[in-house]
Amino acid sequence: MAENKESLNEKKEFQLELAKYLAEKDFIYGPEPELYSPMAGFYSYGLLGKAMKNNLENTIRKVFIKNGFFEMEFPLISPEIIWKASGHLDGFNDPVISCSKCNSSFRADKLIEEQTGIAADSFKDEQLIETIKEKEVTCPSCKGRFNLEIKRHSLMMKTTIGRDIVAYNRPETATTTYLPFKRYAQFFRQKLPFTVFQIGKAFRNEISPRQHLLRQREFTQAESQMFLSKEMKQNFELFEDIKKIKLPLWTEEMQKTEKKWIEITVEDAIKNKVLKNKAYAWNLWLSYEILTSAGIPKDKIRFRQHWSDEKAFYSDDTWDLEILLNSFGWVEMVGISDRTNYDLNQHAKFSKQELNVRLENGEKIVPDVIEIAFGVDRPFYALLDLAFFRREDAQRTVLSLPYNIVPIQIGLLPLLKKDNLPEKAKEIMKELDDYRVYYDETASIGKRYSRLDAIGVPFCITVDHQTLEDNTVTIRERDSLKQIRIKISELNEKLKSFFKDGFKE
Ligand SMILES: [Zn+2]
Repeated sequence: MAENKESLNEKKEFQLELAKYLAEKDFIYGPEPELYSPMAGFYSYGLLGKAMKNNLENTIRKVFIKNGFFEMEFPLISPEIIWKASGHLDGFNDPVISCSKCNSSFRADKLIEEQTGIAADSFKDEQLIETIKEKEVTCPSCKGRFNLEIKRHSLMMKTTIGRDIVAYNRPETATTTYLPFKRYAQFFRQKLPFTVFQIGKAFRNEISPRQHLLRQREFTQAESQMFLSKEMKQNFELFEDIKKIKLPLWTEEMQKTEKKWIEITVEDAIKNKVLKNKAYAWNLWLSYEILTSAGIPKDKIRFRQHWSDEKAFYSDDTWDLEILLNSFGWVEMVGISDRTNYDLNQHAKFSKQELNVRLENGEKIVPDVIEIAFGVDRPFYALLDLAFFRREDAQRTVLSLPYNIVPIQIGLLPLLKKDNLPEKAKEIMKELDDYRVYYDETASIGKRYSRLDAIGVPFCITVDHQTLEDNTVTIRERDSLKQIRIKISELNEKLKSFFKDGFKE
């Protein structure tokens, strides 16, 4: 899947333009600390970005909860033994290569991807060396040649508890979600499936992260775990509700023959053995539901199956949900894995405790886990990447963000800064309790509209002289540019419907 230099350059240009815009418009600051020496891979959510991130997180939360999941929160720091048990201390590392001239170190697979467009993250060390030699990959800092030797760099961020207890910042939420398993068994009264999720920070000591929010050293994950029996995977009740829904599936076979993915109903995917079981298919659908609810357009999504030699050794099946970005092409957003009962067995072994449930027939089993693993930062970035692209012309930049995640919902604008119009506007502001309202009385009305378009405000309410006479205002929609006049007394009710469906004819 090599790409030509031209399209790589176009993407690079878009990345830089977007990063600059996001900083200027208070979405993302950094790398931080900007005030001192910036460190790669650390970013702040700015005054608008944080509001949008909260909205996105709440959308994710809402979909999980609606589908029967319970949220938990585990400490970020845990002692060494947990990461021994999970396998992270021994196996969680990246291939690193260093420059023979300036001695800078880089992640070998990402460097290859950046300079040649070849996806190299499943390459063995020898393949990495060979590709670097063959494609003449050079040092991004000094253009020098690399030492042809791969070293392994651990991604775990070490810290200390108390005086000398070795501990680590968690590299993922998933492991920490498993640990209170015995508590869940009690809460769910031993009745599988147990459905739990966690949203929170995780840390990875990346060697040279250079993909903005997509690859950070500290980031926010959202991961769900469904504990269930093997038998339940084929007889999964909830499957009935979603079986007619079509998903874009790209199997290992299709990838090898360079065939495009197919749109196929979940039901047919099971029938044709594209997907192994109904519970897994349902989790695949749920990840799709989450991202489309957050406003990612369906035609930018596909599911890519991991190749047999690419997935983790304990995994039964893994697919990635990918999104097509303007800045980076197809990017992995979510991984959906059938992790079997590997993790629970590991933690049972290391903690010397039994982690199992008793089925109705009296049999004791260690449940399997189907996991949906993603983050908040990547979908956040994706939404802005796609919204920024939709601007209409150079004079008017419009951030076409989905209405449910915009940081500011309403612009409130008195036509003039006199004639009692500001006072009337402020009266209306008190009625709009459910929204973040941005009041603006400076500059011409046209200028104010474009300022609000540029940060994605979907609706602007304008208070003019007619308002004083008949208690009506105009509402302008960002995307259609249409304006309609409505009664102040109906404002809240109408806004509710506009936020759901936009202006309807
Ligand atoms: Zn160098």
